[in-house]
Formats: sequence, structure tokens, C-alpha cells
Amino acid sequence: SQFALKFETMHVDFADVRRAIDNDELEPCFQPVVELHTGLLAGFEVLARWKHPLHGLVLPENFISLAEENGMIGLLMQRILRKAFLSTPVLPAPLELSVNVSPAQLHDLSLPSQISKLAEEGGFPLERLSVEITESGLINNLERVKKIVRKLKNMDCKMALDDFGTGYSSLRYLQAIPFDVLKIDRSFVISMTDKRESRKIVAAIIGLGHSLDLITVAEGVETEEQAEMLLRLDCKMGQGWLYGHPLPAARIPQMVETAPW
Ligand code: C2E
Ligand code: CA
Ligand code: CA
Repeated sequence: SQFALKFETMHVDFADVRRAIDNDELEPCFQPVVELHTGLLAGFEVLARWKHPLHGLVLPENFISLAEENGMIGLLMQRILRKAFLSTPVLPAPLELSVNVSPAQLHDLSLPSQISKLAEEGGFPLERLSVEITESGLINNLERVKKIVRKLKNMDCKMALDDFGTGYSSLRYLQAIPFDVLKIDRSFVISMTDKRESRKIVAAIIGLGHSLDLITVAEGVETEEQAEMLLRLDCKMGQGWLYGHPLPAARIPQMVETAPW
């Protein structure tokens, strides 16, 4: 798609990322998240894109890890979130937003106040915000993450565990952090219609979500067949190309109005 270009031939280095931030070339895109049993739009996940003057929209795999390695991921998030929150007047209540925070940012105790400041600037209520983290951010850093999460929860943000199933899928982390949302990794969803093992894993994760009172979100839903199976397994939410690609803020009103589901 026109919104999913990436560098094939050009090497991206740290200076390019620095320049992208300085020149304000980073932009949020918004991907629909849908409630499976009603078919209603529930909100959007904010995904970073680099609007490169020559190469078009560049995907995060080309620049997120560089930003992490060079201590710029905090600044990158601020740039993305500022624009995301400023565009939320077009996001009617009760639609929610979820944002990605990288493991490197979970060392920064000022993360919650950064987020609340940006949300306030854009007039976005924090009770409609989910903060997505991955298990890898919890390893060797659990105590600090607990502090950060406590602040975020006190601000009324929800916490989501992203890419569940790919890491350790540790019950210890599910117990230690008061998550609200469990996001089932795309790799299981993609194979669940033809692999019995994947289907069983997805069913088990959804069951775990029910037991722990977590909202389950299936990632990478591309077909009706997958959506129907997830609905039968009683998964709460779906996200994927079936419902929409990540698109720039200007397309939010259209996505909200023309949501065919
Ligand atoms: P993620 O958080 O797991 O985000 C979901 C990824 O799956 C997105 O890739 C999205 O475009 C893609 N996706 C959604 N639906 C489908 C589908 O039906 N099929 C397939 N094949 N893919 C689908 P994207 O935007 O390239 O982002 C990749 C990763 O980069 C994200 O994975 C996240 O870990 C990271 N990322 C993106 N934006 C940010 C950001 O602002 N901050 C941080 N720290 N990380 C970010
Ligand atoms: Ca995510
Ligand atoms: Ca994910």
C-alpha cells in the first residue's frame, strides 16, 4: 500500500533518524481496533511513520531500533504523541487510543508525566488511553516498571501487554503488572485457521484473558475466516487489515464514518 513503503536499497543510520526528528518528519498513523461481537469501532493504535522527503512513508522497522540504541526513542515518542493527541478532536468519545512504549523508555521514571503533559496539550482524556508494553521491557527492570505503571494507572491510563505469546509469556509478569489488555501476537492469528496448534494457543490465551479479567485483542486479523474463529473463541477485540490499515490523522474522520463493520 502507499502507506507501507520501506527502504529497500538505502541504508538508514543514526544521523538520518536524528534529522527526521529535527526536521519533524515523523508522523502518527492510526489503525482501527474493532469490537468483534458488535463489529463496532473501539479506537485506534498509534503507529509511527517517517514521512521521508524522497522515500515516502517509511516503516518503524527501519528506524525504531536505531532510535532506541541512540537514546532518542523518548524524543521520538514525544514527537509522535504530540501530533497524535493534537489530531484527536476528530476522535469522538468513547473511541480510545493506544500507544507503543519501547523497553528502553521503561527506565525513565518521567515517562508518565511526559505522556500526561502531551495528552493535556491535545485535550485527550487519559482514561481513553492505553499504553502498550512488551514483556522484554520487564526483564531485569520489573521494580522500576511497577513504579511507572503505578503512576500511569493513577492517571487512569490502561496498560496493555503487546505481542503476547512471542516472548516468555510469563505468568509472573501478568501477576506483577496490573494489565488491562492482552494483545495476541499476529503470528498465531495468521496460522490459526490452518494450524490446530496455533488455534489451541489462541484459545488458551483468550481463556487466560477471561480468567484474569483482561480484554483480549487479536492482532493481524486479515480474513473473515480468522475473525469468525476469534469470535467463536470469545476474543473481545480485533485489529488488522480486515478492518483497516494504519492511516494518517487526516483519514480518521473517514475511518470513523465509513467503518462498514
Ligand atoms: P506492533 O506494536 O505489534 O504493531 C502492529 C504492527 O502490525 C504494525 O506494524 C501494523 O502495521 C502491523 N499490522 C497490523 N495489522 C496487520 C495485518 O493484518 N497484517 C500484517 N501483516 N500486519 C499488520 P508497523 O506499523 O510496521 O510497526 C511495527 C512495530 O514497530 C510495532 O509493532 C511496534 O513494536 C513498533 N512501533 C510502531 N510505532 C511505534 C512507536 O511509536 N513507538 C515504539 N516504541 N514502537 C513503535
Ligand atoms: Ca503495539
Ligand atoms: Ca503487537
